[in-house]
Amino acid sequence: MNEALGVATPVLLEPAGPDWKALVAQYGSPLLVLDCDRVRMQYRKLTQALPGVRLHYAIKALPNETMVATLAEEGAAFDIATSGEIAMLEKLFIDAADTIHTHPIKRDQDIKDALRYGCTTFVADNIDELEKLVPYRHRVAVLIRASFPNPAARVDLSRKFGCAIGELPALLAAADARGLHVKGLSFHVGSQVDGSHRHVRAIEACLPFLRERRPGALARMTVLDIGGGFPANYDGSVEDIDAFCAPIREALQAVPEHVEVIAEPGRYLAAPAMTCLTTVVGRAKRGDRMWYYLDDGVYGSFSGQIFDHTHYPLIPLDAQGEPQASVLAGPTCDSVDVIAEDFPVGEMAIGALIVAPMMGAYTAASASEFNSLPKTRVIALAPPASMDEADNVLRLA
Ligand SMILES: *Cc1c(COP(=O)(O)O)cnc(C)c1O
Repeated sequence: MNEALGVATPVLLEPAGPDWKALVAQYGSPLLVLDCDRVRMQYRKLTQALPGVRLHYAIKALPNETMVATLAEEGAAFDIATSGEIAMLEKLFIDAADTIHTHPIKRDQDIKDALRYGCTTFVADNIDELEKLVPYRHRVAVLIRASFPNPAARVDLSRKFGCAIGELPALLAAADARGLHVKGLSFHVGSQVDGSHRHVRAIEACLPFLRERRPGALARMTVLDIGGGFPANYDGSVEDIDAFCAPIREALQAVPEHVEVIAEPGRYLAAPAMTCLTTVVGRAKRGDRMWYYLDDGVYGSFSGQIFDHTHYPLIPLDAQGEPQASVLAGPTCDSVDVIAEDFPVGEMAIGALIVAPMMGAYTAASASEFNSLPKTRVIALAPPASMDEADNVLRLA
């Protein structure tokens, strides 16, 4: 029944999960609980599904220091896009050699900030961006980003960025003519893709360029960056990551030996690792329907419902009696701040708790402080030893 309502079925909550009520009693509500063991598990599963592929965590999915420190301890590398993300890595003493800067459009200051940090691999998808790198050509290497439009992805990342594959030869020649070292190719087939055939087709389209020797090139290409897009299992309908990656593994067999393959997962690593706990702070009967007002909403942690087009499983812990179609609304005074319409739930009292799993990716990251409501506090379970006690409890930004 939930599917028709645009609300994912709550199949993913382990009954033996943490004591959510005790956490809210101790840390307050609303609360985001980051489970670092789940981060480790996601990283290991994707590493095993893509053997030999170095994973660069795309920080924008969840720019949280404990998340980054956990992944660094696991051996992950990082994908940065802004100087703010660089500042976070510097604070955590992350080795710049393990980073790539993947924003296709940069200001000179962005390039300078990355170079000062020690990141020397940049992404470009047009001649203007190549020009910006020319003054630094003795210190930088470039990945050329190709586009593979995918309207079926939840977020099509090839509409805004990437050069058409047909334009690639001219762009490579332009880079060669400017004395830039083209280290390889990159793409992003879209976030939360509908299947790995997108990755496979993109890999296959890149192969001829990786094999070819361009007469004017400074060096052969040595990197293929297969981007992100690896789907999170929001509603139980997504295939296991090993099965998802099987065709990608197969396609990567054809990549020349001298080419290192890297990937930039964001969502897959972050989504299942964080759970939102939100409390009913008010209620009203409007027409024939109960409205429950929660202390987190679409201007806060549920911002992903707007920006990321994602609905999260919602599990009421304290509902009584027959489920009735009800409205779950956020805490701001704006009418767009509704988390769920027609949500089947029994009667909830003020103080009732709702648990929303799968809220690690593109949620807290895009939350605002609209109505002067502070962003929801993040606490971490099983944080890495490198984060001291004070750091275990974090507030994003
Ligand atoms: C957002 C982004 C990612 C992460 O994508 P996911 O679909 O979350 O894995 C990776 N690379 C780039 C360049 C991005 O912009």
